[in-house]
Amino acid sequence: MSETTSETTSETTSAVSGYGFAGLSPEETYRLDRRHVFHSWSAQAALDPMVITKAEGSYIWDGQGNRLLDFTSQLVYTNLGHQHPRLVAAIQAQAAELCTLAPPYANAARSQAARLIASHTPGELDKVFFTNGGADANEHAIRMARLHTGRQKVLATYRSYHGGTQLAVNVTGDPRRWPNDQGAAGVKHFFGPYLYRSPFGATTTEEEGQRALEYLEQVISFEGPDTIAAIILESIPGTAGVMVPPPGYLAGVRELCDRHGIVFIADEVMAGFGRAGRWFAIEHATDRADGSVVPDLLTFAKGVNSGYVPLGGVAISPQIAATFDERVYPGGLTYSGHPLACAAAIATITTMEDDRIVEHAAALGEEVFRVGLTELAERHEWIGEARGTGVFWVLELVADPDTREPLTEHAGGNALAAIVAACKRRGLLPMVNANRLHLVPPLTTTAAEVRAAIGILDEALTEVAGS
Ligand code: PLP
Repeated sequence: MSETTSETTSETTSAVSGYGFAGLSPEETYRLDRRHVFHSWSAQAALDPMVITKAEGSYIWDGQGNRLLDFTSQLVYTNLGHQHPRLVAAIQAQAAELCTLAPPYANAARSQAARLIASHTPGELDKVFFTNGGADANEHAIRMARLHTGRQKVLATYRSYHGGTQLAVNVTGDPRRWPNDQGAAGVKHFFGPYLYRSPFGATTTEEEGQRALEYLEQVISFEGPDTIAAIILESIPGTAGVMVPPPGYLAGVRELCDRHGIVFIADEVMAGFGRAGRWFAIEHATDRADGSVVPDLLTFAKGVNSGYVPLGGVAISPQIAATFDERVYPGGLTYSGHPLACAAAIATITTMEDDRIVEHAAALGEEVFRVGLTELAERHEWIGEARGTGVFWVLELVADPDTREPLTEHAGGNALAAIVAACKRRGLLPMVNANRLHLVPPLTTTAAEVRAAIGILDEALTEVAGS
């Protein structure tokens, strides 16, 4: 164990001693949670939520005072880490000045946040419709696309997550859709590129990108191009496994959309605002293909203000914005452009600019994550693939590297749960989805912290594989 790792493991603090604003001990917090709080995506009886008493930078503290490196960024949104002083100060200052204001009014925090967001979105996506989060951003983007085109159908990938509200969850591909699927009118799913488990029998990145585009072209022609309002894609699918699209794929989707008058919606809710080592993940397509790939609508949330106050939105192209110059846009939210959330966005974006956070995220991805995880994968048979970019990585765990059978059950127990438990004992909190460990810490995490986390993963994998 490295020195940094042992520091990480052994450090406890007085975080449990103060009862904080709500005035509850960790024990009371837990008891009241179990009695009164109804949690998302869960059978309630089986829940055993970790009590968090304190958070700072890349760390959280549990109810026993153990410090853990937060490699989840909660739900991949605390991009500037916990309790960033500039964000806290901005929210406090805005609260002292003006806590809230309804959407019809113009407000300095809202105007400034919109300007800053538009200054970083690709192309001319210069108008921003603010929402409360990612799901409603996608719902509104689809509504705009349908009204703009006069068409109904929406194409989305199976390996995707677009949110938990009714239309967003029906557009979602992952199994969370199944119990909610009331067959939303006109939503059709297709396969995007995923070389490690290629739906197209491809063996190279180029083949995968090419075949995925040929297949999408067929899907469009069989669905009827004139019936399709939008294609919605995560620029890098996140929850589904961080699959960076092959070079040329997103440019190809752009070209298919242009050819058929289909609106291209890029969902950057998770991948945007620096997570992928670019302001927006779609810029990777621009780096590698010829010319820039600009979607018609770009949805964001999470990293826009590090999730300190709920905020999402849709950045809109001039053509789609013009549709609603004379015609009423039939949609809105009470808290659209909430001043506290916008103040947090202003502080987040200016901090990212001043501290060169996107450059740091890109370097951390190439110099630390890629190098460290590639070495780790060479030492552990269970790691079928380590992939990602920026501060957006997964380890895809397999029981057998040849068959690529996903690792879930092993030696009579749940290997993934055992690996996570071994990580937590050593002071690391990774995120789990299906057979994958998602490694998605704040973008402000240091190289030493990432190396410490990889050291802990190494030990945890060795422990569980040997048991
Ligand atoms: N889109 C993507 C790509 C996401 O990852 C998420 C949430 O994880 C959403 C949309 C939904 O965002 P929210 O939970 O803020 O509604």
